[in-house]
Amino acid sequence: MKKKVTVAIDGPSSSGKSTIAKLVAKHFNFTYIDSGSIYRAITYVALKNNLIKTGDIDVVSLIDLLNNCSISFSFNSNNQNVIKLDDISVEDEIRTFEISNNVSLIAEKNEIRKYVLKIQKDISNNKSVVMDGRDIGSVVFPNADFKFFLDASIDVRALRRWNELKLTEKDLKFEEVKKDLLKRDKKDINRKFSPLRRSKDSTLINSDRLDISEVVKHIIGIIKKEI
Ligand code: C5P
Repeated sequence: MKKKVTVAIDGPSSSGKSTIAKLVAKHFNFTYIDSGSIYRAITYVALKNNLIKTGDIDVVSLIDLLNNCSISFSFNSNNQNVIKLDDISVEDEIRTFEISNNVSLIAEKNEIRKYVLKIQKDISNNKSVVMDGRDIGSVVFPNADFKFFLDASIDVRALRRWNELKLTEKDLKFEEVKKDLLKRDKKDINRKFSPLRRSKDSTLINSDRLDISEVVKHIIGIIKKEI
């Protein structure tokens, strides 16, 4: 087997990337890295410090704060990441609807993307990784050994996300979740820096009619053939 394998899994919000990436990583005993969680943790810092006002961000103050705190990952026994802010897990705090609602404002800033890129490279150093996100195959690891692009229709994605969120946010309506996903898709696709794009050399998988285990099996099969 190759010494170090890099698997990039990109796609729009709630296309099933993280669930699938985790299972693929577990199968091969690779490290799973959820790059969206880094953008979410930064959004958490920005909101906590009142740096997002009327849809705009004080990027200078935010970068200043980020330079004085640490965003890191620890890995649990399944080799899955737990994101930490100054050594304290913020896994639960970053999954709220408020964070989802603001994260693409953060992710469109080039200064922030550069900051995140460094974290992504540092944590993948000398490891076989499965990283999911929006620009992994196009910008972060353009030479990844394997690139997948997961997609699903807006209604299927919104339903998946709503089912997840309503466990903790009981009053949340399906239409609100769908609206947020559409807004995030639009921002992720149209932003100037590292927009969500399917790289030509990626394998496209639409999961509208496939369940998680079928997608995972398909991806594992492709990787197994090559390594
Ligand atoms: O994957 P997840 O939904 O947690 O990502 C949250 C947000 O972070 C996305 O909506 C996107 O704006 C941003 N993101 C990004 N590039 C990545 C991963 C996430 O722009 N590689």
